[in-house]
Amino acid sequence: MKRGLVIVSAPSGTGKSTLCGRLLRDLPDAIRLSVSTTSRAPRGQEKHGVEYFFVSPDEFKNKIAKDQFAEWALVHGNYYGTSKETLESFWRSGFHVLLDIDVQGAMNLKALYGERSLLIFLEPPSIEELERRLRARATDPEEVIQKRMKNALQELAMKNSFDAVIVNDDLDQAYLRLKKVVFEFSEQIAAGQWRR
Ligand code: ADP
Ligand code: 5GP
Repeated sequence: MKRGLVIVSAPSGTGKSTLCGRLLRDLPDAIRLSVSTTSRAPRGQEKHGVEYFFVSPDEFKNKIAKDQFAEWALVHGNYYGTSKETLESFWRSGFHVLLDIDVQGAMNLKALYGERSLLIFLEPPSIEELERRLRARATDPEEVIQKRMKNALQELAMKNSFDAVIVNDDLDQAYLRLKKVVFEFSEQIAAGQWRR
């Protein structure tokens, strides 16, 4: 059965990891996470191979040269990329693939795999609440928070290019909407009716 990509983008701090984590725990037989490669340093308790594959900038550039990424981007000054092999091996095993990537990556994957991609934009209830969440997460120093807030405005301007926009105000409500759009996508792609 044809399998697709569920691409979730949002300004950092909106709640992507929280909502994606819930979806993965809820639908373990249907969807798997594409673990990206990044040149940024691990944060807090992050582990190699779990949140990301952490590599040096040189190692990352080497992988670009070997054409190992379906897409890659510089986000907040660090490299991030999606492995082609990860996507293809999950598809071969019958899973949809969930991606937590930035808006540039989402647009690049749409250009490559548009006929099998669902693009979801998660929106914070307000800019003030976004800043509050970034601070409450307590994982980033002040200058990183400032950089993320500046990028958030540019990312929000792209939301109309996505298939669905979900406001993450109440977490349970946002999760129900996320699950609904993913189910509808899965049914349509199975029936050959997605972006016909
Ligand atoms: P992202 O992956 O988009 O950067 P996270 O999932 O790390 O964001 O969430 C950022 C912070 O906001 C975390 O501390 C998380 O617990 C909190 N959070 C997520 N969703 C909500 C929500 N709906 N209401 C309040 N806080 C939330
Ligand atoms: P963070 O450093 O907070 O984990 O992620 C920063 C940003 O990079 C987030 O918007 C996240 O979605 C994005 N990101 C993570 N992995 C990838 C990837 O493989 N490709 C792209 N384009 N963006 C990614």
